[in-house]
Formats: sequence, structure tokens, C-alpha cells
Amino acid sequence: MYHRVTELPSDPHLVAVTPKHFCEQLEMIRKHYMPIRLQQLVEALQGGEAPKRAVVITFDDGYADNLHKAMPLLEHYDIPATVFVTAGVVGSQREFWWDELDRLLLQPGILPAKLRLKINGSTFDFQLGEASTYTEKDYRGDRDWHIAREDDPGPRQQIFRKLLAAMSALPGAEREKVVSDLVAWAGAELIARHTHRTLTIDELVKLQKCRLMEVGAHTMTHPKLADIPLAEQRTEIHRSKQTLEAILNRPVTSFAFPFGSSTSETLAVVRDEGFVCACSTRSDVVFRGADRFCLPRVTVRDWDGERFGRFLRSWIGD
Ligand SMILES: [Zn+2]
Repeated sequence: MYHRVTELPSDPHLVAVTPKHFCEQLEMIRKHYMPIRLQQLVEALQGGEAPKRAVVITFDDGYADNLHKAMPLLEHYDIPATVFVTAGVVGSQREFWWDELDRLLLQPGILPAKLRLKINGSTFDFQLGEASTYTEKDYRGDRDWHIAREDDPGPRQQIFRKLLAAMSALPGAEREKVVSDLVAWAGAELIARHTHRTLTIDELVKLQKCRLMEVGAHTMTHPKLADIPLAEQRTEIHRSKQTLEAILNRPVTSFAFPFGSSTSETLAVVRDEGFVCACSTRSDVVFRGADRFCLPRVTVRDWDGERFGRFLRSWIGD
């Protein structure tokens, strides 16, 4: 499971693999493993046979770099991949809400010293104190920080972490409100950084034209499905399929749960809506007899080829 292939000045969400490392990783797969399509794996689970050392590559979310950076390298190594696209942000001039948090809180600049937010009926009060001014130098000092770290260097990172958790549990419309409140508080504009752009409609069509690439759905607004009412889950799932199919003019049959969040009812909705498989974020290899509506995946980090090789060996063996 990948998200982004790009070089970023900072990566607080830990989602980017550099093109150099991605290239080394693909080389490792090409040399020692058997890359197959997600649909081939699903067919194998339905009574077929998967080749030995089979590996499936997926990307979540729908960043523009999947087309510009990942696809050329996949083509070079002739390795297929599925890109799960958050349908509501295709062609959007906005960043994903979690990138907005990075843009508003973790980039150098001056913010008001206090932040009061209403989230889902609860009031959150945050104090930035001295961190209300955040210089280039502060930023450079903190730029290796990411969400998996146990220490938070200052209030900006603490607020980022708390908002990330609180906002991921909100339905899309509710979360939109929090983002607008934050943008207004920060006095910022709602314009995506070039580095954090999502796919446009044309780019999505281009991506699908590549014979190696499959486009899958990833809801409309990227909520934690298990945390929202079932009717809203259905709308998120149904509309994402419909929206992508209208753009691509072909069936979209693979799904991935945002944040890996689902319940048994979510799985049933995905099946009802006509998908043939769904990917979770539970870390494991796919064994024979696995539920094709809850396929495990393992997260790939920004590792060089050698480290990535050790990682794959730890899951698949020699
Ligand atoms: Zn996602």
C-alpha cells in the first residue's frame, strides 16, 4: 500500500516515497517477485491460482503524483497498480483536509495565539503561545517530525495531531465546516499547494488509459466509515463508484476503505453496490481463503531497495 511518490520538503503524514526509492523498490519486485493485478488476485481467491511470490501494488487517495511520478516508473518496470481515488476531490482546487492541517499549522508563518473550534458539538480550545510565530528556522528544525513520532516539538504539532484524530471521525459535511473555520482563523486562502495537488479529471482519464493502471473507489470525502451512520456510508460508497464511472466511462469494481475503517455492514454495502473486492489497511499477506471484501495490505515507507527487500522478505519469505 502506497499513497504518494514524490519528494516533499516535509511529510508529517509519512505517506511519500521518493521517486528514487520507488524505482529501487520496483526493481526489487521485478527481480525477486511476481507483480500481478489486483483483479488477478481476486480471481485467484475465487477458485483460481495465484502465482508464487505474487505482489499487488495499490495507491490510496488520488494524488496527482500517482500519474506524473509513479506511473512512468511502473511502465518502465511493466508493473501493474490500482489507484484508489477519493472521488469527491477529483479536479478540486483544494487539498485533502489532512494536508490542509499541514498547510495551516505546520508551515512557517504567524497564526493567532488562540484557537477555539466547535467539532461535533464539543468545543476545543487550543493555545499556541509562542508558537503563534513559526519561523523558517523553526520549520526547518521540525521538518523531520511526523505523526508516528512519540514526541511533539511544540503546540502546533500537538494541535495537528488532535485535530487529525477528531476530524477523521466526522462525516464529510461536518468536517468541511471545521476546515473552513480553520482557514478563516488562519486568514489563509483555500488554494492547493502544487506539491499537494489531487488528480484532475483529465489526469484521471490519462491514468486509466495506461494498460497497467486500474482506478478503484475510495469514497467521496474520505471519512472513517465505521464512525458514520450506515445510510451515509452507503451514500459515500455508492456516489464514489458512480462519479468515477461517469468520468471513466467504464465499471469501477475495486474499493479501499479510508483509514481501513469498516464494519461488517460496510463490507455488505460494498458488495451490494457491485464491487468485487475491497482493501483494508490491516497489515498482513493475503492467504488462500481470505475475504475479498477485506483484503489486508502492508504499508510501504520511504525505504531504499535493500530495506524494502528485507521488508518484503519478512512478509513473504525467501
Ligand atoms: Zn485514503
